[in-house]
Amino acid sequence: MYTSRAYSAASATAPLAGTTIKRREPTPQDVQIEILYCGICHSDLHTVRDEWNAIMPTVYPCVPGHEIVGRVTRVGSAVTKFKPGDLAGVGCLVDSDRTCPNCKEGLEQFCPGMVLTYNFPDSHLGGVTYGGYSDSIVVDENFVLRIPANLDLAGAAPLLCAGITTYSPLRHWGISSGKKVGVVGLGGLGHMGVKFAHALGARVVVFTTSLSKKDDALRLGADEVVLSRDAAEMQAHAGSFDFILDTVSANHDINAYIQLLRRDGNITLVGAPDQPLPVSAFGLLFARRSVSGSLIGGIAETQEMLDFCGRHNITADVEVIPIQKINEAYERMLKSDVKYRFSIDMASLKAE
Ligand code: NAP
Ligand code: ZN
Repeated sequence: MYTSRAYSAASATAPLAGTTIKRREPTPQDVQIEILYCGICHSDLHTVRDEWNAIMPTVYPCVPGHEIVGRVTRVGSAVTKFKPGDLAGVGCLVDSDRTCPNCKEGLEQFCPGMVLTYNFPDSHLGGVTYGGYSDSIVVDENFVLRIPANLDLAGAAPLLCAGITTYSPLRHWGISSGKKVGVVGLGGLGHMGVKFAHALGARVVVFTTSLSKKDDALRLGADEVVLSRDAAEMQAHAGSFDFILDTVSANHDINAYIQLLRRDGNITLVGAPDQPLPVSAFGLLFARRSVSGSLIGGIAETQEMLDFCGRHNITADVEVIPIQKINEAYERMLKSDVKYRFSIDMASLKAE
């Protein structure tokens, strides 16, 4: 074991603060990474504040962070894919059982034995896993991703969650040129959804509650922006979408979006509000529409997404912050005041 610096929350109401945590020495299969940047996902905030208590109660102290980019510092004797000095990424998954049908299909995120990067039982050290708000992490090489060399590292970090979470459902639902795609909520996930849907050739419409984001949405790749509170603007799109990606983190009326789908259209929820969302049966059955969910993506697809980003030079639009601004960043995230992802410069942790 060795000691790492980190930021943790001591309870659902405590601010995040500097601390030290234990990390395991690399096993033969492990890669040790010096963390350079870690994105701030709204899931970090949901977890820190124990908002998902009914499904995944938070164990304290909690060290969040699953949008990790860094440099390999050490590798175990059996590691073949990485060597010291390589760039590396870690997303939401750090292990799985590797034998179940989901793992065999590259869908480790649905493995009953999957291990999330933070707030999940840690079979190596006991307690729970600790995430990327830290200067170092040790992860099995099979769950470590390669980062294309041409990508800006601060902007690449959010690809490890916001990127794959939006790329995966767009691919699953066959989004390509000629499709009309809606993206609800222009936050961390939403702005990546816009970039990917645009890069895949779709006609992209952004639904936002923030009028001030209109110009940005167009710059990010949207063809049109709808203010979701404007009933007439919404009605103009009734029955016209092939697919809608809903990234909203709080309760909202999804029936307003279901009626915008064409026959056989699908709305996929990636946003994870803590309360159930009512669905009108009539909105679905008259046009055989469907509502789905999607959870991050498997390891192979995450690498595919990163390579796609390398080819298309896609990264998140980030506001880089020192870790000392983390609590302020959470408050801004709650006000939808993020353009469009915070990325923590982990060098700031050395100043603690
Ligand atoms: P974020 O950056 O805070 O963005 C969420 C956006 O939703 C906001 O920017 C805002 O967009 C909109 N919004 C917020 N409150 C709203 C409200 N009351 N009504 C309508 N719209 C509202 O969050 P994020 O990091 O993108 O995460 C979004 C959600 O996805 C979170 O619940 C997170 O936990 C979840 N998530 C799920 C997965 C998965 O695997 N499924 C992975 C990562 C994250 P506008 O200002 O444009 O309206
Ligand atoms: Zn996330």
